[in-house]
Amino acid sequence: MVNKVFRDPLYGYVRVNDEIIDELINSTEFQRLRRIKQLCGVSMVFHMADHTRFSHSLGAYELAREVLEKVIDVKNALNDYEKTVFLCSALLHDVGHGPYSHSFEKIFKISHETMTNNIILGDSHINKILTKYNPNLASDIASVISHKHKFPLIEQLVSSQLDVDRMDYLRRDAYFTGAQFGDIDIEKILRGMLVKNGKILFKYNSVPNIEDYLMSRYHMYYQVYFHPVSRCFEVMLEMIYQRWYELIKSGYQFRTDVSLLIDVIDKKTVDAFLKIDDVYVNGCIQQFQYEKDRILSDLATRLFNRKLFNHIDLKYASDEQVDEIKKLKNNDKYYYKEDVVAKSAYDYQIDEQIKVLIPGDKEVDLLEFSPIVKAFSRSSKYTSKLIYYSEI
Ligand code: ZN
Repeated sequence: MVNKVFRDPLYGYVRVNDEIIDELINSTEFQRLRRIKQLCGVSMVFHMADHTRFSHSLGAYELAREVLEKVIDVKNALNDYEKTVFLCSALLHDVGHGPYSHSFEKIFKISHETMTNNIILGDSHINKILTKYNPNLASDIASVISHKHKFPLIEQLVSSQLDVDRMDYLRRDAYFTGAQFGDIDIEKILRGMLVKNGKILFKYNSVPNIEDYLMSRYHMYYQVYFHPVSRCFEVMLEMIYQRWYELIKSGYQFRTDVSLLIDVIDKKTVDAFLKIDDVYVNGCIQQFQYEKDRILSDLATRLFNRKLFNHIDLKYASDEQVDEIKKLKNNDKYYYKEDVVAKSAYDYQIDEQIKVLIPGDKEVDLLEFSPIVKAFSRSSKYTSKLIYYSEI
């Protein structure tokens, strides 16, 4: 047994007692997450929000460990092997994120879920560590991450409406942005967590804390994740990725060494993918300032120096203003983008509902039990419609 801790501002300590968890944290693939930022362009607005996928993944693991320690029903429902599957799945659920993930996925068509499973199942240190422990462990963790329903209880704990992943990132993102919401009462939520017929449900007296969690989530989308400036950073990064990709395809001769990205595009292998991270992309953007391609060099110079595009909010702009801006659309595709993003804090129509246990041992949907969630879920889809633009 190992006895290691990581200081963490949310939990005090992240505690590591299992050899396998210690080995996984020390693997090269997991250490790479230190070089992938959790929140992409959010630090352009909230300057402290530079925390990484590494700290979030440790946090999700720590919450999983606390669930096993504090929620007796879960502890009793899982055998030792399943507990290991749960802890490892929480730790590894984001290991396949690419540099500045969402823009990267969009342009290069490599999904982080697929890459996470490719890393866990493929030729990696992580795979060797898991296989040494148990030959089935890697495929069982991959099945949890891709929702194959082999371990429904663990899947619910790792990825659902209220899981260790979301609970960690919501609190962590709130903490590092300095947002005054998102500090949800995890202790109370865990105290209300039960297992019935192999499924997670919550005692009715923990519903106020779940309501608080959902409201916080909504506010985080409103004020942080969809903040126009952080979205603008992502839009401009997307433009750079797009230009970069098109120049590679057209055979353009870069001054910058872009061979690692070419390998990823051509081979799409785990090995090639793991060589690129935010540090690599930042280095390329720095170099792109001196490329002879005018568009790439201009976009890179702007992004590098935080000279972001202008934006107008379609909700509030007059028709005349919108018409004027839309004229820019024809100038250059790299300098104009209509950006619509929408997110619901409680996707009760898509994901399975949170279940509540009420007196009399009766199980009801959260929407039915909570008038706040009911009212809130009708209008809880936060939608942002903006146009980003710039004169060339
Ligand atoms: Zn995550």
